[in-house]
Amino acid sequence: MSRVAVVTGGTRGIGAAISEALHKAGYKVAATYHGNDKAAAEFTAKTGIETFKFDVSNYEACQEGVTKIQAALGPIEVLINNAGITRDAFLHKMTPQHWRDVMSTNLDSVFNMSRLVVEGMRERNFGRIVTISSINGLAGQIGQTNYATAKAGMIGFTKALALEVASKGVTVNIVAPGYIDTEMVRAVAPEVLDKIVAKIPVKRLGKAEEIARVVLFLAADENAFATGATFSVNGGQYMA
Ligand code: NDP
Repeated sequence: MSRVAVVTGGTRGIGAAISEALHKAGYKVAATYHGNDKAAAEFTAKTGIETFKFDVSNYEACQEGVTKIQAALGPIEVLINNAGITRDAFLHKMTPQHWRDVMSTNLDSVFNMSRLVVEGMRERNFGRIVTISSINGLAGQIGQTNYATAKAGMIGFTKALALEVASKGVTVNIVAPGYIDTEMVRAVAPEVLDKIVAKIPVKRLGKAEEIARVVLFLAADENAFATGATFSVNGGQYMA
């Protein structure tokens, strides 16, 4: 049986690596994205994975997106909440818009997408939800009160939902990456990035594929007992 998996923000960076890993493992994958049509088209040309464009921060847009995905591929059995953005600023300079953008894209999206698939998962007695948090949601980070709040919020959400659906064959888990070599991290100033890498015990950035391996493990049918848990993948940088 080939299960249907949705990866939000699945066309670039960590999400693209997750989409590809699931596809190679035999899942029917829908990779979603927001605005970068060129990256999405290149991703489909390279992988053959179908993409769906909608804004995960908007509930109605997610409703339409989920309806389209289910019409194309079938009921969603695996949801990977990966889409995320940063809008860094010290709190004394942070605008309400910086705050709202990060909260809605990173955290509201997890409610939106999980809410839309969880009823079907309960009815079918099977589901896997994996949400991508961050080391900075566990450890905090200067300039990221918005991002750290959203990423920490995912953990509370995951624990509560894991309890609600534990008897229904649905597991809900978090993967908390450290610093991974993607466009999000390449946007950090090189001198700041050098300081970050110096603090990582393995002395390098992580690879997107190294996050995908853990997501694949958690998405598997065989992973029926790990739930409500947070899996750190950070080169030893923060051991919670
Ligand atoms: P990228 O910036 O490389 O990719 C982000 C993806 O999310 C893109 O596909 C983008 O679509 C999509 N996206 C952004 N906003 C929306 C939206 N409103 N609706 C739908 N899709 C959206 O990110 P990364 O791969 O670096 O990060 C992926 C996740 O991992 C994020 O949640 C991030 O917070 C988390 N993370 C990343 C770390 C890192 O070191 N890179 C470390 C820890 C956590 P489009 O292409 O259209 O813009």
